[in-house]
Amino acid sequence: MSQALSTCGLSSGYGPLQILWDIDFVAKSAETLVLLGSNGAGKTTFLKTLVGLIRPLSGEITCLEKRVETWSADRRIRMGISYMSELGVVPSLSIAENLTLGGYFQPNAARKTQLNAMYDRFPDLAARKRTLAGSLSGGQRKMLGIAKALMSKPAILLLDEPSAGLSPLYVTQMIELLRGLKEESVTMIIAEQNTKFLELADRVSVMENGRLSFQGNVEDLTQDDTLRHAYFGIH
Ligand code: ATP
Repeated sequence: MSQALSTCGLSSGYGPLQILWDIDFVAKSAETLVLLGSNGAGKTTFLKTLVGLIRPLSGEITCLEKRVETWSADRRIRMGISYMSELGVVPSLSIAENLTLGGYFQPNAARKTQLNAMYDRFPDLAARKRTLAGSLSGGQRKMLGIAKALMSKPAILLLDEPSAGLSPLYVTQMIELLRGLKEESVTMIIAEQNTKFLELADRVSVMENGRLSFQGNVEDLTQDDTLRHAYFGIH
């Protein structure tokens, strides 16, 4: 299986404040990788660095066989990487406007086709195109966030805490939605604290204090006493 996204010795942060330290990471093509870590571990900083919203302090990022660490975010989006932030949408814009924004870098015809594809996939959004994203429920907002991220037809989808603020019912719906994308061979990196998402994972990475402390499969994670205790509360 070829590599979709990898980093080597990646360090990153905000101005002089270093948050990520020497991250070596690989996501293979069509793989679903769950990135676990507690609040403040550095997951968001990592995803933002991968998509180009933050410039790394040092290290390499290789995406679809190209070295991209000096590329702008829009160039990375155009080449096939997409990012859903924790908020996911612009609350002051309508559903239709959020989706159009997600397809900003698409040519007009491709954007229209993709917009219709999103309305087919998410009928609840199609029924309320002019509704402001800010007036949607947390669950609907997350669904819009995913649809917006899919507008650019990404090969690689980075998702920042898709379960944040969702009721258990919506968490189940979200997992089913992501399972569908997995079946369509979209490479996904899912930053989460909710271990329920491990049912989607081909592999797991754990981030602690800005460093990757574990990378492997779910079985290996549950064999590790410290991690098992931290993430599953099992002694
Ligand atoms: P969470 O689940 O809370 O979002 P996280 O694992 O995604 O956690 P980050 O949001 O990447 O963690 O935060 C890592 C560290 O970076 C934290 O100490 C945070 O305070 C700091 N940080 C985040 N954003 C900024 C910023 N814009 N400027 C300075 N420090 C920041």
